Amino acid sequence: MIKVREYEGVKIIRMGRTIAGKVLYPVHCFYYQGTLIDTGCYSCQREFSQLMGEYPVERVVLTHAHEDHCGNVWFFNRKNIPVYMDAEGIPYVRAPQRLKMELYRKITWATPPAGEVEALLGEVLLGDIHLKAISTPGHSPEHLCFFEPDRRYLFAGDLFLGSRQRLLMRGERFWESLKSLKTVLALKPDVLFCSFNGALEGAAEKLQEKILYWEETAEKVLRLSEEGLTPEEIDRRLFTGRSLISIVSGGSFSTLNLINSILTRD
Ligand SMILES: [Zn+2]
Repeated sequence: MIKVREYEGVKIIRMGRTIAGKVLYPVHCFYYQGTLIDTGCYSCQREFSQLMGEYPVERVVLTHAHEDHCGNVWFFNRKNIPVYMDAEGIPYVRAPQRLKMELYRKITWATPPAGEVEALLGEVLLGDIHLKAISTPGHSPEHLCFFEPDRRYLFAGDLFLGSRQRLLMRGERFWESLKSLKTVLALKPDVLFCSFNGALEGAAEKLQEKILYWEETAEKVLRLSEEGLTPEEIDRRLFTGRSLISIVSGGSFSTLNLINSILTRD
């Protein structure tokens, strides 16, 4: 399934594998003035290539190397359209087996074919639009957000996801993500283009809400840990009920990952 809608000069492309008419887990990519931010998942490759055939894409930037963001790099490689990302993500796009995808990820997004990307380092201007790459590690080490200062647009990849996000993927780093949230909040963005939610107005307020929720959660987790509770006991105390993705992913996506990451201070 692919659906496109327009928001103030940005084309929002929503896609995902459907089962019995329902999208399993949607992902969004964004087209803004000749630049495509992320490429979605390979499981939608047929519809995606058809759609992209109609778009005058001059360059592609990737927020990070997860399969639902770099799934269609192959398409732009074939057309000789340059694709950029943080250097640390390049080995994963070149050899997607390095992502070590669990079964639920393969079913939902499919393993992408190997792609070729170029390194984008620090803050740069791309073409004639101001799109600053901001290093925002945590969700993954190579994660970048892209900020357009004229309209105060923040293309946030998987940094935000929700103000009360409590599920973390295995390997995510809570404290780094928290710092990254503060980095992008300091830019005072107006509109947040989120890979999971699409366009969200009131970006700065939403980021602030998430920072507060995470700081409060971290405080509770650290206090309970000092009282001698194990991560599993803290999980049962703070979070009731398990979400579907947590069950389907066999714990690869869970509140327990959030707790363990809070308790791991570098
Ligand atoms: Zn991701």
